[in-house]
Amino acid sequence: MKLKDPSLLRSKAYINGEWVDAVDGRVFGVHNPANGKLIIEVADLNADAVTHAIDAAVPAQKSWAATPAKTRAMILRRWHDLVIENTDDLAIILTTEMGKPLAESKGEIAYGASFIDWFGEEARRVCGDVMESPQVDKRLLTFKQPIGVFGAITPWNFPIAMIARKVAPGLAAGCACVLKPAEQTPLSALALAELATRAGIPPGVMNIVTGIDAPAIGKALCADDRIRKMTFTGSTEVGRILMRQSASTVKKMSLELGGNAPLLVFNDANLDVAIEGAMLSKYRNAGQTCVCANRIFVQDGIYDEFAKRLAEKSAAINVGDGLDDGVDQGPLIDQQGYKKVLAHVDDAISKGAKVLTGGKSHKMGGTFFEPTVLTDMDSSMKMFREETFGPVAGIFRFTDEEEAIKAANDTEFGLAAYLFTENTSRLFRVSEALEYGIVAVNTGIFSSEVGPFGGVKNSGLGREGSKYGIDEFLEIKFVCIGI
Ligand code: ADP
Repeated sequence: MKLKDPSLLRSKAYINGEWVDAVDGRVFGVHNPANGKLIIEVADLNADAVTHAIDAAVPAQKSWAATPAKTRAMILRRWHDLVIENTDDLAIILTTEMGKPLAESKGEIAYGASFIDWFGEEARRVCGDVMESPQVDKRLLTFKQPIGVFGAITPWNFPIAMIARKVAPGLAAGCACVLKPAEQTPLSALALAELATRAGIPPGVMNIVTGIDAPAIGKALCADDRIRKMTFTGSTEVGRILMRQSASTVKKMSLELGGNAPLLVFNDANLDVAIEGAMLSKYRNAGQTCVCANRIFVQDGIYDEFAKRLAEKSAAINVGDGLDDGVDQGPLIDQQGYKKVLAHVDDAISKGAKVLTGGKSHKMGGTFFEPTVLTDMDSSMKMFREETFGPVAGIFRFTDEEEAIKAANDTEFGLAAYLFTENTSRLFRVSEALEYGIVAVNTGIFSSEVGPFGGVKNSGLGREGSKYGIDEFLEIKFVCIGI
């Protein structure tokens, strides 16, 4: 890996401001999904290391919380600036361990940095209230105080942004964290920690525990009474485990779990806008985001035209190693991810779906998959129920609005939905009827630090980003004063 600043490539865990090995010296390999090659071996920590990290985080949190919000904000601002200044190196690290094209990595880094900047500003705007008392001899107020030390577990699909979106609001609020990054992508997390240190984030405030035994690390975080909150992005299955494990210590939870995003295109849509939106939503990160369109519902009148044009655009996607110029789509993260995509495509074809383009392994081999468009999809297929997490656009046909809304809501998930229409009444009607935390209208991209991100139903709890995001890391204390 050729970096301008090689010291950003770290292979030790980061606890109490120190780079540490596992006590028993164990390591695990991090591989490049584009070619399967070993990039580096990283410290493989266990549950005891989690306890050590919490030991360090508890006193560090107390002095961090006592640091003026303005100082915390300035440190976060410095961290943001360092992330931006080091974008090129961070992008190489990210693409090498995760596979997404360099341009997408740079986009993710800017997106991740925007949360650090935003929450640094928000740190200074945490305000309690003074309420009118119903009794003349009382005065009522609230303090907003940091919740304490929190545990964070993040996925591999946005190795920088998912960390920034959790750690920045927590640190802004005056909390400290013990973070476990995904085992596939620990290098971006460690590079972020290196930059956080340079920015002046004190030892113990941000701890990174790397390791492959995720269940043991997760359990140690959940079981420890000193961890007052868990924030997690990943599968619904693991989210449920963490919630269950946190029950005995009654932790506050933020969960960003799976999605099964519907994308609705009505006859009255602007077709150019709808195609563009569907391409962006479907193929970003090779289809590996929890808000990627998973079921594309298109109304009768434009179904054939939409499918034909989507297939033409999909066939033109340039698949390759994300580090190479001009590549639009990299490999899937691993064999497990690849097998799931293949199984979903095979299942759909065996039940009557037609392949307009793609449909199989890409000639690059490994975990590369062809951008795929399938028509004649129906609700008996796996793709209707489960998140495919790959570059496969399955197109379902519908006749009227009511039918489309019913199908879109016929899922346990409720993260993001998309809607394409030029009819204003329909825009409001359908946006209100969709049981999702996010509805994107006439666009395939909605994420920013300003909008609240989060789901309903089995897609999770809480909101990240926006003016609401910092509340997840604050407690409201009610103070009643007799006078
Ligand atoms: P994905 O399918 O995106 O890998 P996971 O939910 O399996 O989704 O992984 C997301 C994060 O959760 C990763 O950091 C992973 O290591 C971690 N993880 C997986 N299983 C557990 C578990 N039982 N307890 C705690 N964390 C886990």
